[in-house]
Amino acid sequence: MKIIMLGAPGAGKGTQAKMIADKYSIPHISTGDIFRANIKNGTELGKKAKEYMDQGLLVPDELTVDLVIDRVAQEDCKNGYVLDGFPRTIPQAESLDAALEKRGEKVDYAINVEVPDENIINRMSGRRACVACGATYHIVHIPTKTEGICDRCGSELILRDDDKPETVTKRLNVYHEQTQPLIDYYNGKNVLVEVDGTRDMKDVFGDIVKILGA
Ligand code: AMP
Repeated sequence: MKIIMLGAPGAGKGTQAKMIADKYSIPHISTGDIFRANIKNGTELGKKAKEYMDQGLLVPDELTVDLVIDRVAQEDCKNGYVLDGFPRTIPQAESLDAALEKRGEKVDYAINVEVPDENIINRMSGRRACVACGATYHIVHIPTKTEGICDRCGSELILRDDDKPETVTKRLNVYHEQTQPLIDYYNGKNVLVEVDGTRDMKDVFGDIVKILGA
């Protein structure tokens, strides 16, 4: 089962992607997480990606596409995967389709998690990420046991630069211009499904399971 998560930044697609990956035992591939791991490790890719991410801009396709295409060709992806944050542009989607087609494969579902912009801005200012392990929380919706401390590893939580309100507004503009056209793109391929992402994350996941099958 090859699944793509679509939706604005902060729509909750990452949370749903992790839940899907757990339930169906397939890898969760988040390009944002891959870039953040590279930034943390001080790699060349990380240095380049950070310049764009901190400004709320997309990392250029040259730095993104091959990375994902190599990743989905790995052995653990043979029964499927859930892509979270990729593709984000029509050229990325076309490159992915072309790479899959060469192997006689295709995307099975593009799940659009729909949330209006005003909800997104409120949600993202409440997001917190662990400086050490990258786990994400929300001060209202996914609180930690101790405020400001990661439940998983005990490290400090921060508001990521790319979750700050001015960056969020920029990211939403980028989303509408560059990523939203993917909804029509996957609709045209008859793989688009939509869920209402404004509800409780368990209810959203319930809808997704109904679509994917138990
Ligand atoms: P995310 O964690 O998915 O919200 O991604 C955080 C940031 O990483 C984005 O705002 C972009 O700057 C960058 N990024 C992640 N995925 C992609 C992608 N597929 N194409 C370009 N930039 C990306």
